[in-house]
Amino acid sequence: MTQKIKTQKIVKDEKRKGKMQLIDLKNVLPVPVEDKENQEFTFKSWTMKEEKKIAKMKSSRTTMGEFVSNVFGLMLDTLCGENFQDKKEEEKIHILNQFDLPNIIYMWIYLRYDVLGPEIVMDVGCPNCGKLNEKRIFTLDTMDVTVKKDDVKRVSDYKLHKIIKFNEEIVESLRIRITRWDSMESAKNEVAANEGLMKELIFNSSIIGINDSEGAIPELNKVIENLTKRDIEGLSAFISKHNGGPTLTLEDDCTSCSNKYFKFLNWSYEDFFGQSSLPEK
Ligand SMILES: [Zn+2]
Repeated sequence: MTQKIKTQKIVKDEKRKGKMQLIDLKNVLPVPVEDKENQEFTFKSWTMKEEKKIAKMKSSRTTMGEFVSNVFGLMLDTLCGENFQDKKEEEKIHILNQFDLPNIIYMWIYLRYDVLGPEIVMDVGCPNCGKLNEKRIFTLDTMDVTVKKDDVKRVSDYKLHKIIKFNEEIVESLRIRITRWDSMESAKNEVAANEGLMKELIFNSSIIGINDSEGAIPELNKVIENLTKRDIEGLSAFISKHNGGPTLTLEDDCTSCSNKYFKFLNWSYEDFFGQSSLPEK
C-alpha cells in the first residue's frame, strides 16, 4: 500500500495582494521563485535533537548568513513543494544562496513564529530621548509583508539625487536587482543588528550596473562610498520597495518621552530565538 502524499495548497496569483500580514500569508514565499508553481515551504518540528544540532552550528564560528543557511538546511522539510531533506548538503546551500533575500528573511521570521509563537520580547532604545525601553512585546503575526506577483520585475533603475563623478566617469543612475541571500555570506553577526552595515552589504549585492545598463562596475565600492545621505536613504528605500518581503521595522511608543518611534528589527539568533525573547508567563 502506498502512502498518499498530501496535496499542497497553492496561493494563486490573483490571491496575492500587495501588502499582507504574516498570519494571512503563512508559509508562502513573498517573492515568487521563477519556474515554480508551488511557493510553499514547510519546516520539520524543532525537538531536542534539532536544538542540540543548532547549538553546535552556533558555536562553530560561521557568519550570520552561513548560520541561517545551515539552520534551514536542517529545518526545511519542503521548499516550493519539493522535498528538501533528501538533497545533498552542498545542493541545499547552493539553492538557498541563490534565493532572494526577502524570502530567506521571511522564512526566518516564520520559523520563529512557527516554533515559539507570535510574541517576541525585545529591549529597544528610543531614538528621541535615548531611554532603553525594556521588555517590550511585539507580535510577529501582524507583521506587514509586501508580496510580489508572479510577473515580478526583477531589475529596476534608481536615479541619483546627486550625480557621482570619479575617474572621469559620471554616474547618474544605478541599476539594481532583487537582493540575493548570498550577499549575507560574509555578514558578521553584528550586521543583523546594524542598519548601516546591512545597507552597505545590500547595496553591494543589489547594484548590477550604472546609467541604465547592466555590467560589472570596476569600482563599485567607490560609487557606494560617494553616495550622499539623501541617496543612501533614497536607494535604501528604493531597494526595500523593490525587494518586497517582510517589513523589518518595529513600531513602539516610548515609556519615557511618549514619542512614537521606529526601530530596525534585530533578527539575530539570540534576540529572536533565545530565552529572553519569550514573554514571561
Ligand atoms: Zn523616548
